[in-house]
Amino acid sequence: MSYQSEIEKRRTFAIISHPDAGKTTITEKVLLFGNALQIAGTIKGKKSGQHAKSDWMEMEKERGISVTTSVMQFPYKDHLVNLLDTPGHEDFSEDTYRTLTAVDSCLMVIDAAKGVEARTIKLMEVTRLRDTPIITFINKLDRDTRDPIDLLDEVEDILKIKCAPITWPIGMGKEFKGVYHLLRDETILYKSGQGHTIQAARSIKGLHNPDLDAAIGVYAEELRDMLELVRGASHEYDHEAFLAGELTPVFFGTALGNFGVDHMLDGLIKWAPKPQGREHDLGRVDSSDKSFSGFVFKIQANMDPKHRDRIAFCRVVSGKYEKGMKMHHSRIGKDVRVADAVTFFAGDRSLLIDAYAGDIIGLHNHGSIKIGDTFTSGEKYRFTGIPNFAPELFKRIRLRDPLKQKQLQKGLIQLSEEGAVQVFRPLQNNDLIVGAVGVLQFDVVVARLKAEYNVDAIYEGVAVATARWVYCDDARKLDEFRRKAEVNLALDGGDNLAYIAPTMVNLSLAQERHPDIEFKTTREH
Ligand code: GDP
Repeated sequence: MSYQSEIEKRRTFAIISHPDAGKTTITEKVLLFGNALQIAGTIKGKKSGQHAKSDWMEMEKERGISVTTSVMQFPYKDHLVNLLDTPGHEDFSEDTYRTLTAVDSCLMVIDAAKGVEARTIKLMEVTRLRDTPIITFINKLDRDTRDPIDLLDEVEDILKIKCAPITWPIGMGKEFKGVYHLLRDETILYKSGQGHTIQAARSIKGLHNPDLDAAIGVYAEELRDMLELVRGASHEYDHEAFLAGELTPVFFGTALGNFGVDHMLDGLIKWAPKPQGREHDLGRVDSSDKSFSGFVFKIQANMDPKHRDRIAFCRVVSGKYEKGMKMHHSRIGKDVRVADAVTFFAGDRSLLIDAYAGDIIGLHNHGSIKIGDTFTSGEKYRFTGIPNFAPELFKRIRLRDPLKQKQLQKGLIQLSEEGAVQVFRPLQNNDLIVGAVGVLQFDVVVARLKAEYNVDAIYEGVAVATARWVYCDDARKLDEFRRKAEVNLALDGGDNLAYIAPTMVNLSLAQERHPDIEFKTTREH
């Protein structure tokens, strides 16, 4: 197969949703379609405990949540799909955000009874940073749901994205009859109790086909009326608008009943963009470029605690990875030979033979790889757009045994390079302040400090409400600011200057007082 057709057939996406909307269930069904699993079973440690491979993963098992992001690759029809899993619990980390920089499209899953929920809003904001195309699946139609038209209105109003229904539900709950596919002019009938298999669904061509009346009775006439309304009130699918992140094709179904997931997948392989290029500091690389390049968006430690194994997740941007190839590690300016990258087929790690643009490869990391690192075929550029997000939660971290200050500092800085957490060291004192996006990150850090650095640390409250990275082109002005605002300044794990504000009011006053200083909520690696 030619290089270009390898690229054309790939789709790399992630699911964004609020906890409990059905992300795990959809993932299972999607893998079932990919024949990756014969009978869709549970794929996360959540239900089976199979991923409890290390101490801090124990934690996620205990709490029944996943704090890690994994990668699954599976074939669907004549395509190859990469699904990047993101943590689903409310306490999530920056990994979730950064994972969204490694995909080319997202599937947004919405609970039909609940509509647009908080986490979805937040994740949509992140997808907007790159105008990622969004496909929508409205789930749980086998339950009593809200009016589908209301749901689309809500998506449009709150998430500011136009909705183009591709399928339309007929009935709901016990009376859920199936969906009408607006583009195929076909009604696909739902049968309950078939969730563990791929259904040979019955479909009826044509909206005015008498077979439809025979099959669903009064619902047929209702559907015809409804569709007139829907066609008038909603948007038609517009490919350009979809690619620009302005319009989302919407599918209805039930993940549990494995109904509608295939319609969504058909849409994904048809419309979602093939692997896209990425910007770097010297220009841009396209996925059609045959020389290898990629960037690291996540580092996962301790997948195998016996080996102190760390895996750097690298999104291939262009070219082809081959076993034993040489890559240029842009930041440290060295060539490295990579013989043992891994891939993730349906959650299992297996040795990778080759990989193309759009794929994710796992590189063994012995400490030299950081989040945001670029690998090339020798070129010196570095990819941009893999941000740190200003943390929203802060705690002072303190040792139980004060003699281990050095280890604590070293551990925290390494964990921050890995992206597990952020650390701030105030200019005026010796505090170590840990900043996180999700509460769970704090516990992970303490558990890992103990396991990997043998330090016993505890948290205390600290009066920090928010942090901003500060920049100014004028060195003299920056110096002056540094002097005047020193009490509120700190260095992060990478020695970047940050303003840590005790209150939001304090932050806005500082911004008013120092108009020449830029206060940023993200920082590029
Ligand atoms: P996640 O937190 O988004 O990963 O959600 P899960 O996939 O774990 O689903 C949350 C709960 O909703 C579980 O109990 C699922 O069995 C249930 N669920 C998921 N999809 C459906 C559906 O289509 N219909 C119904 N009735 N329940 C569903």
